[in-house]
Amino acid sequence: MNASYIKNCYFTRGAAHAEDCAYVIWDEASKQCMDSHMTDHCELGYGNVNTIRCYKAISSVNCEDCQDVIFSKDCVSCSNCFGCVGLRGKSYHIFNAPYSKEEYVRKLEEMDLGSWRSMEDLEHRSHEFWLKFPVKFMQGLQNAGVSGDYIYNSKNAKTCYRVRETEDSKYCMNLLNGPVKDCYDYANWGGGSELLYEALVCGDNTYNIKFSWNCYGGAKNIQYSIYCHGAADIFGCVSVKKTPYCILNKQYSKEEYEVLVPKLIEHMNAMPYVDKKGRIYKYGEFFPGELSPFPYNISEAHELFPKTKDETLKDGYIWKNEEERGYASTLAPEELPDHIKDVDEGILREVIACAHKGCDEECTGAFRIIKRELEFLKRLGLPLPRLCPNCRHYQRLQWRNLPRFYPRQCMCDYQVHNNTIKHSHHENGRCPNEFETSYAPDRPEIVYCEQCYQAEVA
Ligand SMILES: [Zn+2]
Ligand SMILES: [Zn+2]
Ligand SMILES: [Zn+2]
Ligand SMILES: [Zn+2]
Repeated sequence: MNASYIKNCYFTRGAAHAEDCAYVIWDEASKQCMDSHMTDHCELGYGNVNTIRCYKAISSVNCEDCQDVIFSKDCVSCSNCFGCVGLRGKSYHIFNAPYSKEEYVRKLEEMDLGSWRSMEDLEHRSHEFWLKFPVKFMQGLQNAGVSGDYIYNSKNAKTCYRVRETEDSKYCMNLLNGPVKDCYDYANWGGGSELLYEALVCGDNTYNIKFSWNCYGGAKNIQYSIYCHGAADIFGCVSVKKTPYCILNKQYSKEEYEVLVPKLIEHMNAMPYVDKKGRIYKYGEFFPGELSPFPYNISEAHELFPKTKDETLKDGYIWKNEEERGYASTLAPEELPDHIKDVDEGILREVIACAHKGCDEECTGAFRIIKRELEFLKRLGLPLPRLCPNCRHYQRLQWRNLPRFYPRQCMCDYQVHNNTIKHSHHENGRCPNEFETSYAPDRPEIVYCEQCYQAEVA
């Protein structure tokens, strides 16, 4: 689903160039990763959120170029770190304290990471520890003049979210790879896109696409069309591929096309579509939400802009009621072996009840352990999960911020956090820097500006 150039992946969406992954959502070119969200060129990762070029990262968040890190956050170029936060180029640290290699190995053995109960406790302790340290107001790297969150290698990209290699663009999101240039109101997925406006699921060398969905692979000069891969010069078409100058799937001469399109636009403005809520859609609007074939609450929109059932229906979207799947489980989660060493292949035949049941996280009620998952967990020495894949995904979502931005002032004042050094731009009192951040004002994190953050982590 929503994936391109992927190989041997299972339940993986929003991915490109991924290999041998399972339960991975939003990935670029990772291998053998499981249960992760927003990963980029990672290998053998498990339970991560927003990790880049990491090898054997486990349950870690916002880490780059790290190896063998567990329950770590905001670390760069670290290896063999456990429960660490905001470290740069460190090895053999536990809760930010240094250890010798031998001590580190011994400590980790004592922690007994193969036990579910130990891992639960360690996860809880790590998350509490993380909160004591400042966070940077946005996630990003190698940018110039950008605003938003999760922005990488971009220039003049404003109010963007989860984009890479994006230039001179605004209101773009979910652009897995670039280059993307001169785009506006564009979501999913990049890979060489220019002049896209109100476009969804378009990418792979696309040019000048407006108000369209699912047009990719060299598509250009397209308006109000869907599923037109590699098409050019079309208006209001469905599944047209190589025939140019089509309107409503009928081909015209170039001259006719150029006369007809302005007439159509005029007509769209004179007799616009009016939806059930009385909203008017003239030329220049994307397709009305009420025509979407996807229920709001099972689409990614719900993960990014959560709405209640009432709000969804009021806004004119479809809501899908939770279906009673009625899976008969053969094993309760508390009956699972606590330790991975006590698990054998027999587990593959069990239907395990999800420990959540009754949450609103698209819980499937019961789940199976798949073969590659068991092999993977055995290899990494990690316990079996107690939640179904959907619930696991929702737990991870808590560690990525939503695409909503709040103007805030840097919280650095030498009191909210015991700074390690004096910050040259404010030697006393509160830092005057302001920014837009996805950390809402009521969040518990200590939010720092770039300058203050870098002064503390360097
Ligand atoms: Zn569940
Ligand atoms: Zn749940
Ligand atoms: Zn500051
Ligand atoms: Zn400061």
